Order: sequence, then structure tokens, then C-alpha cells
Amino acid sequence: MLDQLKETIKKALPELDFVMGWGMGFDALHATPLFMYEPEDVDKLVWGPLNIQNLATYLPSLKGKKVGIVVKGCDSRSVAELLQEKLVNRDEVVIFGMACQGTVNLTKVREIVGNTGLVEDVKYENGKLTVTADGQPHEMLLKDVRADKCGYCRFPNAVISDHFVGEERAPQVEEDTFEDLKEFESQSFEERRDFWMKEMDRCLRCYACRNACPLCVCRDHCVAQSRDPHWVSQQDGIRDKFMFQIIHATHMAGRCTNCGECERACPVDIPVLLLKRSFNRAVKNTFAYDAGLDAGATPPLLAFKVNEDNIKEKEW
Ligand code: SF4
Ligand code: SF4
Ligand code: SF4
Repeated sequence: MLDQLKETIKKALPELDFVMGWGMGFDALHATPLFMYEPEDVDKLVWGPLNIQNLATYLPSLKGKKVGIVVKGCDSRSVAELLQEKLVNRDEVVIFGMACQGTVNLTKVREIVGNTGLVEDVKYENGKLTVTADGQPHEMLLKDVRADKCGYCRFPNAVISDHFVGEERAPQVEEDTFEDLKEFESQSFEERRDFWMKEMDRCLRCYACRNACPLCVCRDHCVAQSRDPHWVSQQDGIRDKFMFQIIHATHMAGRCTNCGECERACPVDIPVLLLKRSFNRAVKNTFAYDAGLDAGATPPLLAFKVNEDNIKEKEW
């Protein structure tokens, strides 16, 4: 499949400024975004469960260039959503879609491998990952170390593509029932409040969660730093940090494609996707809508209907 992908990219490359994919990073465990300008760059491409970054995040800043992008299922939803919101022009992007087998959560891998420094080798075969560090191989099942989002993935295959490479894969689930929210929500209000107070106390206010999000496009006008309007102070308090997270989640309501990049990018593993998932469920229940599935659709909170189909306000 990787060879077929490389060949497809090489054929398309002369018509493009560059193509984005993943290459090997500073060690065998860390894939990194790869920008391919020449056929030799394409030879550095890697594909597998370590391709965790959602490269769609780069797209809005590349307007005016004609670029290619390799996408997993969840990344492709971000591209579709960017197209829906006209943050990216369809004729400026060429999408190389793949079927995804799931990606790893590096924190879970590190819990098994330990703090060994650089990883020498990673092999992936038949759902099993073998990570070699300090000459010592560590075997693990991908399902034990995969990102939580992959456990309830409905769209492993790119939902939009110009070139789909390889065979399609079956989804993990047919319907997302938001099971992952149930344990948290079974707690009392006080327990949930204390949970978020503790988590926000650990927040570094680094904004990696915001910067990694492909749909978080206010950039220099972000409420977290804006002085006018001054929604969030620059103090390092829990309230201000939580206020920022709530605003971020609200801005994503009906737009969040559940790619999990906000949580993945957090250097202190704050489960910020929990907030987004709960907004996603509310949008799904209210508008019967999933973000990033139809590049021609308008997200419900960017539209206005006098009478929403599922709210039926005229019947009250
Ligand atoms: S959510 Fe689906 S498409 Fe995205 S990384 Fe996981 S398995 Fe792949
Ligand atoms: S809020 Fe998080 S999960 Fe949603 S689109 Fe942004 S990065 Fe992805
Ligand atoms: S990435 Fe994590 S630590 Fe940084 S601002 Fe977001 S929640 Fe806070």
C-alpha cells in the first residue's frame, strides 16, 4: 500500500507545490509531518499507526498554493469541514485518501516501554506492535495502545479523496454511542467540578490544544489573548484556563470532527476531548449532524433555520 501511495504521489507531484504526509522523526517511535517537494522526498514517506498528526491543520495557512495532503479517515473529515466552511479552496487541494488501521497513543506506548530514551525500531504486523529500545523488544497489541478515538472509529476510510489508495477497511463501530462519556457523567456534579478544577490547575496555558486543531482558525484574534474584547485575563488562574477551554469547545460545536488533535497535542495529557465530545453529542442529538462528512453541507450552527427539524420550537 505504501509503494502504491508513493507512486500515486510521484505522478501527481509535478502539478503541485508540494504534498504533505509523514516521515520518520527523531526516533523510530515518532513520525513527523513530511513536506514532499521532489520525488526523492516521497521516498521518505511512512505509513502506519505512528502517523498520528492531522496534517489538515496546515491547510488554512496554505491558501493560494496547490498542495497535496495524505489523509486518514478522521483527517479527511477535517478537510471536508474546512471545505464546507470555505477555509480551503477545493481546486487548491489534492487529497490522497487512505484506509486507516488505527493510530497509537504515545503515552500508552511509553507506559509499556518505560523511560528508555530513544527508540531504535518499531515493527507493526497483524495488529501487533514491537517497539525496541535499549536493545530490548517490547511487544504490545495495537488495540491496547491505540488512541481512544480509534476504539469508536466509524470512518477509517477517507470520506473525501481525489486518489484513494489501497483497500477499504471496516469501521470499528456502526454508530458512536458516546460510551466514553458515561463513566465521567455517572459522577456527581461536585466530583465532575473537582475533576476539572484539578485538570485545569495542571494546564500550562501553552495553547498546543488550540494550535493543533484544524478548525480553530481565529489565530491572532483568539479570545484567549485578545485585549479587545477582553474575555479571558492573562492571569494563570483555573477560572481563566477553564473559561478558555469552554470557549474553544463552544467554537467547535457542530464543527469538531473528533480528530482528537487537541488532546493528543497537550503536553500534560489533559483530557480536553471530553468537553468536545459532549458538545458533539449535543449537536448530534439536536441536529442529527456529524461534522465533516459532506463537503457541500453547512454546519448547523453556521446556518439559521426558522424552525429546526429536531427542536420544533413552533410546536411549543
Ligand atoms: S479515528 Fe479512525 S481514521 Fe482516525 S486514526 Fe483512529 S482509526 Fe484511524
Ligand atoms: S476540537 Fe479537538 S477533536 Fe475537535 S477538530 Fe479540533 S482538534 Fe479535532
Ligand atoms: S495543550 Fe494542555 S496544557 Fe496546553 S493550553 Fe491546552 S489544555 Fe492547557
